Amino acid sequence: MSTTWTNWAGTVTALPEVLRPRTPEALAGVVRDAAERGRRVRPVGSGHSFTAVARPADLQLSLEHLSGIVSADRETGRVRVLAGTPLRVLNRALDLLGLAMPNLGDIDAQTISGALSTGTHGTGATLPGLTGAIAGLRLVTPDGESRWIDASEPQLFGAARVGLGALGVITEIELACVPAYRLRAVERPDSLDAVLPRIQEHFDAHRHFELYWFPGTRRVQTKANDLVGDDVDEPLAPWRRRLDDEILSNTVFGAANRLLVRAPRAVLPFNAIAARALTERVYTGRSHEVFCTPRTVRFVESEYAVPREAVTDVLTDLAAWVARRREPISFPVEVRVAAPDDIWLSTGYERANAYIAVHQYHRGDHRAYFAAFEDIVAAHAGRPHWGKMHRLGADELAALYPRMADFRAVRDRLDPDRVLSNDYLERVLGP
Ligand SMILES: Cc1cc2nc3c(=O)[nH]c(=O)nc-3n(C[C@H](O)[C@H](O)[C@H](O)COP(=O)(O)OP(=O)(O)OC[C@H]3O[C@@H](n4cnc5c(N)ncnc54)[C@H](O)[C@@H]3O)c2cc1C
Repeated sequence: MSTTWTNWAGTVTALPEVLRPRTPEALAGVVRDAAERGRRVRPVGSGHSFTAVARPADLQLSLEHLSGIVSADRETGRVRVLAGTPLRVLNRALDLLGLAMPNLGDIDAQTISGALSTGTHGTGATLPGLTGAIAGLRLVTPDGESRWIDASEPQLFGAARVGLGALGVITEIELACVPAYRLRAVERPDSLDAVLPRIQEHFDAHRHFELYWFPGTRRVQTKANDLVGDDVDEPLAPWRRRLDDEILSNTVFGAANRLLVRAPRAVLPFNAIAARALTERVYTGRSHEVFCTPRTVRFVESEYAVPREAVTDVLTDLAAWVARRREPISFPVEVRVAAPDDIWLSTGYERANAYIAVHQYHRGDHRAYFAAFEDIVAAHAGRPHWGKMHRLGADELAALYPRMADFRAVRDRLDPDRVLSNDYLERVLGP
């Protein structure tokens, strides 16, 4: 029976037949069977990609029953986890074991395999994306084979860690976790003019540093997270967390956005008021609780990685465009940083990046804004996040990823009949 599927942002829909295997062996059977019958099958995580990367062309493979920790070694930090495990489940389970992911992004709704397959990242000048924690993974290929892939096979390991679901279906992942840690978060309003000239220093001064800039204003909110010992305990008062994260960031913000769609001219004054309403807050907490916050107001997003030295030019050009056009953009621009890695299709492949993300309310018009943003980052060899909206095709991406031809060769070998393919993969990787 077919069911309507929509991604989180509402930008992609499909009417797939959904298969929900209960064991890795059953999953291998489903993939082999689909291949033998000439059908296409697409694994899906939590549907949090804004692009059509997860859209099923035919069958949809849900890993919702393949969730949880398989084994854990507290001494080495090596943890094996089933591929459909949501990050929020993983983070709590790791915490109970006295372990944690070295870094995380803004939310914990994604599945571990969905997050890794598109190269999801957090912020931190010395830390690569979440994929930096992969020590090995089990991949079921369309021939029904189940292969364990790790650093002992550099070609497959280079390709499969950010595989876009194009090489096979991941059933299990081994993560190199770190001892559980606590963070002290310092969130502070500031001005773009004060922060931009020193942004590289800010990146380097903290384990994690990020910046939110409110378009149409010169105001920013910075967020620096650093390690803190167990002896320092400054929790955020529950009422303050609820006020800031749930009421102001979600309920009131959502209501304001619904009104602003009908009164776009009010957006710039709204941003000025919203940015001025931000105050400083300092608190400590477990790493995953500090990193991840709820997001209930739907938006669309585009995010590019640029060499980190280019961040000032990109933000200056974007601010000039917004000031000139006075576009009604009610969401802040998010700026992060990450260390290079060796994963072929990772945005961080052999490059230290700054990440710049533009957002727009899902019912607003993002087209002119995102197009201008993409023009600006194109001048800096910007690499788009695979899960976030972008217009690039296979030829342009091949010029940005030195190992793209090698990735395609692995794809030809593992999925010659394109059992796993969909329109998005054809666009970004080629037929
Ligand atoms: C509100 C919000 C906040 C976000 N914050 C961040 C952030 O802070 N940092 C960041 O980098 N990104 C962020 N993202 C993007 C998000 O992390 C990625 O798009 C991620 O891929 C979504 O994971 P998912 O489980 O929803 O996967 P899906 O979107 O469902 O799938 C993504 C890809 O993974 C593949 N896949 C899923 N499971 C498997 C499997 N078992 N084997 C092989 N392939 C598989 C799918 O086929 C698809 O290609 C955010 C997105 C949203 C909506």
